[in-house]
Amino acid sequence: MSQLNKQVIFITGASSGMGKDAALQLIKEGHIVYGAARRVQQMEDLTKAGGHALPLDVTDENSVKKAVDTIIKNEGRIDVLVNNAGYAVYGAVEDTTLDDARRQYEVNIFGLAAVTKAVLPHMREQHSGKIINISSMGGKMYTPMGAWYHSTKHALEGWSDCLRLELKPFGIDVVIVEPGIIKTEFADVMHQPLLDRSGSGPYAKMANAVAGATEKSYAKGQSSSPEVITRLLSKIVRSRKPKTRYAAGKFAKPMMWIRKYLGDRIFDAVVMSQVK
Ligand code: NAP
Repeated sequence: MSQLNKQVIFITGASSGMGKDAALQLIKEGHIVYGAARRVQQMEDLTKAGGHALPLDVTDENSVKKAVDTIIKNEGRIDVLVNNAGYAVYGAVEDTTLDDARRQYEVNIFGLAAVTKAVLPHMREQHSGKIINISSMGGKMYTPMGAWYHSTKHALEGWSDCLRLELKPFGIDVVIVEPGIIKTEFADVMHQPLLDRSGSGPYAKMANAVAGATEKSYAKGQSSSPEVITRLLSKIVRSRKPKTRYAAGKFAKPMMWIRKYLGDRIFDAVVMSQVK
């Protein structure tokens, strides 16, 4: 790869799932890749493949600053930021503590914003850069028991649209990626806490149905592999003029189409037909 095409890429949430898969592929494609997450030991494969692994908790501003400072010290620039770190709090609103809800926002919104804010001065100085925000089809639609998670992704959609306008004069692109159902650790992280919150009590029937439907839809063969999103990220990294949004992975396009064109009641019926 020529020096001109080689990019410095910073990916949050690279210890598993889509972040790790994308990091490994982008290393293979010849880019300088920094993966970051709390579980640094789970990123040894990135360093073995020729990339870099940084400790990062997106909710800790010192940790964010340290990670960005390290990349700038080593490389002098950051060309692409992939804001991928995130997770889902599921459970009835009534059963979910506000502390759990706040934590969801701290990671999916304020943490993502902290990383973005730390990277921006460097991209502005370069007068170039790409910020790729991993939203979800869930940023456009909704599922029962997912109020806190979906609201963070809906917020991310609007936040990213505003940021795109704000950063255009500086030559920085903001791109939103909306994955469908992708086989990662995502469902495992969400499943047990959902049952702990709402698996018994007034919301038990719906909570158990959502847990069952989640298990089924994330089973191997039913969900898409992270490679689907990796291919997309690789294409966005290469693109001179990326689109504002990309959707990919199981159910993303049809579910978002139904949500957009058929109205609330029909969408409610479609989504509840999956939760039985
Ligand atoms: P995953 O396998 O659970 O990966 C999540 C990553 O986020 C992990 O590397 C985790 O690393 C990191 N992370 C979580 N909290 C963090 C924190 N406080 N600081 C730094 N890193 C943190 O799930 P995934 O599916 O690949 O998720 C990636 C993104 O895709 C998320 O934003 C998710 O909402 C979104 N998404 C997923 C799906 C899906 O079906 N899988 C669909 C739509 C959107 P550590 O635990 O090591 O910190």
